[in-house]
Amino acid sequence: MTRRYDDQNIFAKIIRGEIPNSTVIETEHTLAFRDIQPQAPVHVLIIPKGPYVDHADFAANASEAELVDFARVTAQVCEAEGVISDGFRAISNAGVHGVQEVPHYHLHILGGRALGRMLARA
Ligand code: 5GP
Repeated sequence: MTRRYDDQNIFAKIIRGEIPNSTVIETEHTLAFRDIQPQAPVHVLIIPKGPYVDHADFAANASEAELVDFARVTAQVCEAEGVISDGFRAISNAGVHGVQEVPHYHLHILGGRALGRMLARA
């Protein structure tokens, strides 16, 4: 099952150029830009330009060119932001349980400080 894509979401508006962004890397298929409310010294969002709701939708339905480009841009962002040697976290929230705020697939790249455990223990 794939969730329905809403083309009025904020990242769709960023892709269409209706809302400005602080671009880190842009390619034919992928856009990487700085999060407007960074939660770490490095906080970059990587999004496909195609209309995918979440990671599962992108992984299931994107073309090979889109998938490869997204992966390569992710590596380039990590390199450019200098987070490879000390480490980073790549997170993608999905749906209600994942507390996804923007319903366009995005990968958060967080780094530049020790980030603590991934989830608080119950
Ligand atoms: P989510 O909770 O969906 O995984 O994360 C959405 C992220 O998008 C949040 O970290 C939030 O700060 C960021 N965000 C929301 N609106 C904008 C915007 O207009 N511009 C940018 N650059 N980031 C945004």
